[in-house]
Amino acid sequence: MSDCIFCSIGSHEIPTTAVYEDDEIIAFNDLDPQAPVHVLVITKKHISSLDDVSEGDKTLMGHIMFKIHEIAADLGLDNGYRVVINNGEDAFQTVKHLHFHILGKRKMTWPPG
Ligand code: 5GP
Ligand code: ZN
Repeated sequence: MSDCIFCSIGSHEIPTTAVYEDDEIIAFNDLDPQAPVHVLVITKKHISSLDDVSEGDKTLMGHIMFKIHEIAADLGLDNGYRVVINNGEDAFQTVKHLHFHILGKRKMTWPPG
């Protein structure tokens, strides 16, 4: 079992129902949803945070950003949605594997807390 919970989810060591999956990324429901729709999208490759994205990850980053709007559409988020990356200590990143939150089906507030 990997030390990283999201690597374990990405490799299906921890059984997970995927909202979307391909060879490079997987999307699944957050354990503690903060909106009626709260999905996490991760790379199967372990990248700890945005600060650890390297030159060689550019295509992968493009892929994940491109897929997010397709996943959002499949989730029926036709009235908008928020995509969040909590990066590092001040942003309250609790899982040290880069992930994109997709939140939807409620009105968001701004500025975020
Ligand atoms: P962060 O605070 O790092 O941006 O977000 C981590 C997110 O991962 C949180 O929203 C938390 O609820 C979610 N999470 C943590 N562990 C698990 C897990 O084992 N399964 C799922 N589905 N979500 C998790
Ligand atoms: Zn990981």
